Amino acid sequence: MYEINFLKKKIKINPFIPKGFYLDLVMEPEQKQIGKNNGKSVIKSREYLNNSIKSLLIFAIHSQFFGLNNSDKYLLGGKITPQLIKYYKKNQDIENFKKEVIERFERKLKQEISEKQKKIIFSQINLQYSQRDTPFNKEYLNVISEISEVFNQRKDARAEYLLSLFDGKIKLFKKYVGEKISPLDWDFLFEEAKKAYIYEKGFTEYIYSARYAEILEKIAENILIKDSYFDLKKYPILLRKSADKTKKIGNLKPNEWKYYIQFGYEPINAISFLDTRNFLGIDRGLTHLLAYSIFDKGERKFIVNQLEPNPIKGWKWKLRKVKRSLQHLERKWKAKENVKLPENQMKKKLRSIEPKVEVYYHNISRKIVNLAKEHNASIIVESLEGGALKQHGRKKNARNRTLNYSLSLFDYGKIASLIKYKANLEGVPMYEVLPAYTSQQCAMCVLEKGNFVEPEIIGYVDEIGSREDLLFLLFEGSGLSFIKILKENKNKMSLSARDVKGQNINLNLKYNFKELVILNEQDENVVAEFPIKDIDGKFAILDSVYKRGKEKVNGIQKYTGNKKTGYCSKHGQIDADLNASRVIALCKYFKINDPILFGEKRKSFK
Ligand SMILES: [Zn+2]
Repeated sequence: MYEINFLKKKIKINPFIPKGFYLDLVMEPEQKQIGKNNGKSVIKSREYLNNSIKSLLIFAIHSQFFGLNNSDKYLLGGKITPQLIKYYKKNQDIENFKKEVIERFERKLKQEISEKQKKIIFSQINLQYSQRDTPFNKEYLNVISEISEVFNQRKDARAEYLLSLFDGKIKLFKKYVGEKISPLDWDFLFEEAKKAYIYEKGFTEYIYSARYAEILEKIAENILIKDSYFDLKKYPILLRKSADKTKKIGNLKPNEWKYYIQFGYEPINAISFLDTRNFLGIDRGLTHLLAYSIFDKGERKFIVNQLEPNPIKGWKWKLRKVKRSLQHLERKWKAKENVKLPENQMKKKLRSIEPKVEVYYHNISRKIVNLAKEHNASIIVESLEGGALKQHGRKKNARNRTLNYSLSLFDYGKIASLIKYKANLEGVPMYEVLPAYTSQQCAMCVLEKGNFVEPEIIGYVDEIGSREDLLFLLFEGSGLSFIKILKENKNKMSLSARDVKGQNINLNLKYNFKELVILNEQDENVVAEFPIKDIDGKFAILDSVYKRGKEKVNGIQKYTGNKKTGYCSKHGQIDADLNASRVIALCKYFKINDPILFGEKRKSFK
């Protein structure tokens, strides 16, 4: 336990011992104000420190007013979503998953789910196991809304209880800084609490007003100049470093260490967001670093469509080349005579391009945040968490197995957090959505439907031999004609066809319960592929209107395997990365793939 007196720059440790003990607190830069530009950098760091201390205080006060303990976080931040039953783990036993789902619902409700409700949930889970994106049926959605109602009642009751405690919290702060804050401001705090706790979209979604932030700042400023000890109620981390760097740290005495206290806080700006109306979606690109686009809600169209180039690969290549020739030169000199090589400034510079990359990432994130602000848009990216991380949420069929992003997930995460940092400072809200299927949907189709478009069944595997039109559909856009079935085996077929030049080629068609692939026998190239859905032992062939890796060449749509383009049979060809960024923007607009504030934990499922 500790309390801080900011005026006296003292920290009091363990105040429960009547006397406690007191330590000096260093609250300004240790360097003297000398050097370049009359010590401008020292003044800068002093300003920075002052701001940090104030921000920490504001954050601590905000947490004392509106912070939640873990069980309240779980209750107030959670919601019941029908999506829950989609998130079974790979190879998870279905009965085990059913049990898990019921447990999660019951934990949220603090009461049991009826047998009738269970039956309906289980039958929907059965459907979901055969095909993850089966639409929810009405009965199931009704059960979810019944469950939601009970959950929301619990939530409301808890929020009301927390509101009833709020007066007490205000009294506590009045004791600290009472006379310095006007009665109107204190009243406003209570009004803000009322709005926050009974916010219709839920307490954790509430966006605090600018005036609330101002009042917190006033309180903080008064605490800073008050000669009394204040309990931050924020647990710091204690760090120690050897005071004498030349000594080994193995057996230093307590007074041979320097001690630092580290606090974590979030800038108060983060809680007063702009009221944005448009949506800026970002995705990683294949050849480009990033693709982003802005959806204008009023115009119902995409007003910005941008592909950000990737110069980094070029830099790396150039660096390798220069390094190699330098090494070569060095070896030559050394071999010649006993030359001592001068410390080469060039070499130092060449050591790394990391700072350059860092600056580039900073500039891009700045550019994106400015763009979002200029167009009154929130920013939406894909979640990087959990299982999505490995697969990027894309179905791992042959078509997507080879999606080779220009940015590693690590660097993408880095840029995302830079964007978040700058967005917070500007008050631009940033969200993340689940990555599932975002690269497999046509943005224009999603816009028309207001939701993801489900793939449709174009036929069954055992109909291929008897349905001419199905054969035609399988080869549509492949450029092949005169398709004939030569031989049928179990899970396999041999076919012949004529290519664009009129030459005969042989093909192999293979399928299992997951996918159907048609390959050119000679070069093993994929001619076409389709997902398969097992319906009561019959293999249904699915096709979606939008496909990545398909494009129009010389007027005919064709499966070229070029993942940079996508082709929608309704809306035509589009850059696949740009399309994905548009889909991501629309996810937030239509509330698909569970959008949450960036960096928040998804509470409704693991
Ligand atoms: Zn489309």
